[in-house]
Amino acid sequence: MAKNYTINKFLRTQIVAWVLPIVFFQIGTQLSFWSSLTTGSSLFYFPISIGLILIYWWGPRILPALFINAALSAGIWGLGNPYLYPLYAFPETLFVFLSWLFFIKLAKGKCWLPNTRQLTYFLITGILIPLFIYKFLLEGIFVLADQVPKENFLPLFVTTSLGDFISIFGFTIPILYFITHLAQRKGIVHLKGLDRKKGAIKFMYFSKLRNNIELIIIALIAFILSYSLAFADYWFLYGVLSLYSAIRFGFGISILVNSYILLLTYLIPAVLSEQFTYDMILVQEMTRIQMGTSLLYIFSLITGRVISDAVAYEKQINKQNRALEHVNKELDRFVYSVSHDLSAPLKSIRGLVNISRFEKMTDRMVEYIDHIEISTDKLESFISEILDFSRNDRKPISNEIVDLQNLCSEILNSLQYFENFIKIKIDTSGIEPTLIYTDEMRIKVIMTNLISNAIKYQKPDGEGTIQVRTKVLNNKLTLEVEDNGEGIPSDIQNQIFDMFYRGTQSSHGSGLGLYITKEVIEKLNGIIKVKSVFGEGSTFIVKVPLQVIGNHIIEHNV
Ligand code: ADP
Repeated sequence: MAKNYTINKFLRTQIVAWVLPIVFFQIGTQLSFWSSLTTGSSLFYFPISIGLILIYWWGPRILPALFINAALSAGIWGLGNPYLYPLYAFPETLFVFLSWLFFIKLAKGKCWLPNTRQLTYFLITGILIPLFIYKFLLEGIFVLADQVPKENFLPLFVTTSLGDFISIFGFTIPILYFITHLAQRKGIVHLKGLDRKKGAIKFMYFSKLRNNIELIIIALIAFILSYSLAFADYWFLYGVLSLYSAIRFGFGISILVNSYILLLTYLIPAVLSEQFTYDMILVQEMTRIQMGTSLLYIFSLITGRVISDAVAYEKQINKQNRALEHVNKELDRFVYSVSHDLSAPLKSIRGLVNISRFEKMTDRMVEYIDHIEISTDKLESFISEILDFSRNDRKPISNEIVDLQNLCSEILNSLQYFENFIKIKIDTSGIEPTLIYTDEMRIKVIMTNLISNAIKYQKPDGEGTIQVRTKVLNNKLTLEVEDNGEGIPSDIQNQIFDMFYRGTQSSHGSGLGLYITKEVIEKLNGIIKVKSVFGEGSTFIVKVPLQVIGNHIIEHNV
C-alpha cells in the first residue's frame, strides 16, 4: 500500500513536471497562432507568459518542456532552416529562467504579489531586465540568420519588447494574483509564506451596490471610448479610468479594469484586423499605442497596489490600536484595584500606630513608631496620587457648579497636618469668581498638588506666604499659585513635570505630583507654566478652557 502510494506520487510528480507543461505550452502556442495575435516575436505569444507562471509555481524543472515546445513549434511561424530552431527557442527559455533566477531566487520574490515592493520587484527583476536580454538575443539571432534586415534591428527590438512587455504583464499579473492563492488552496502549488486561507479576490467590492454601479459605468465609458476615439491619441483617457479605479478600489479591481481595457483596446482590434506583419509592427503608431498601454498598466497597477497596501496597513494599525486600548484599560483597572486594596491595610496600620502611642514605650520604640507613621503617610499619598491619575484617565470630563473658595478651604483643611503649615500665611482672597461650571474632581487634583508643593518647598527659615488666585476671562479659567519658597533652578524647570522626577533633596514625595497635575490639565485641554527664581519663589500658572460657554460664571445672588 505504502509502496503503491509512493509510486503514485512519483508518477504524479513526473506528470506535473514534464507532461503538463508541454501540454500547456502547446496550447499556448496554438492559441497564439490561431488568434493571429503574434508574429512569433511580438504581441501575444502565450508560451512565455505560461512559462513564467509555471516556473514561479513549480520551479525550473519546467524549462526543458518550454524549450522543446518552442523548438518543435518554430516551424509554424514560417521560419526557415530547421537546424536553427533550437537556437530560436533558446532566448525565450533563457528569459523564463532569468526571470525566475532574478525575481524568485535572488530577490526572494513572492509571485502572488502581496505588496507594492513585490510588484515592483516583479516588474523590474521578473520582467524588464530578462526581457531586455531576451529581445536583444532573439532579434540578434534573427538578423544573423538573415530572417530580418539589419536596419530593422532597433525598431523591431523596441516595438517587440514593448509588445511582449504588455502581453506578459497583462497575462501573468491576473493569474499570479488571483489564481496562485487558489492553486495553493487546491494543493497544486506549495509556496512558502502564502496563506492558504486568504483569498486574493475581495468580494466585498461587489457586495455593495454603489461599487457595482461605479464599475459598470467605468466599463461602459471604456467601451464607448474604444469605439469612438483612437487609442494612440487618447490613451490617457483610459489612464484616467484605470487610475480612478485603482485609487477607488485598490489592486484587485485595478487588475480587472486593466485587463478589460487591454481586451478592448488591444486584443479585440488585433483579432478583428488582418494578420499582423512586421510592417505593421514597425508603424510608428504601434509604438505609441504600446507605450501608452505599458505606462497605463504600470502606473495604475502600482497605484492600486499602493492603495491596497495603505488600506491593509490601516486595518492592521486599527486592530493593534484596539488591542493596545484593551491592554491599557486592563492595566488601569489593575492599578486602580491594587491601589484601592492597599488603602484598607494602610488605614489599619495608621490606626494601630495611633493606639500604640497610648502605650508605655521606650524612646527607641517611639522613634520606630514615628518612622512607621512617616512611611505610612508617604505610601498613603503615593496611593492617592495613583488613584488621582487613574481617575483622570477613566472618568469623563464633568461639568458641575464648583465653589472655588469652598474647594480651596477644603484642600487647605486636608493639608493642615503638613509640617510648617501653621507658620505659612495663605492668602486666598484672589479667588474670584468663586462659582463656576467646571470639573470639580480635576480642579481639586490640580489645586491640591500645587498648594501642597507650595507648602512643602518653603525655605526652612523664611516667612512663608502663599497666594492662590483665580480669574475667568474669555471662557478660560486662570489659576495661579505663588509662593516665596525655595524656588526651582532654571535648568530643571522643564523636567519637573516628568514622571517620578524629584528636583530637590528636600522632596520626600514620589515625583508624581506635577506629572499627574499636567496630565489632568491636558485632559481638560489646558496648559500649565511655571515661573520661578531659585531662592526667591515660584508661581505656577494654569489655564483651562471652561466647557459651558457663555453662562459659565454663576452670580452669587442667583
Ligand atoms: P514631588 O513633590 O513628589 O517631588 P512633584 O512632581 O510634585 O514631585 O514635583 C517635582 C519637583 O518639582 C519637586 O521635587 C521639586 O523639586 C519641584 N517643585 C515643585 N513645586 C515646587 C515649588 N512650589 N517650589 C519649589 N520646587 C517645586
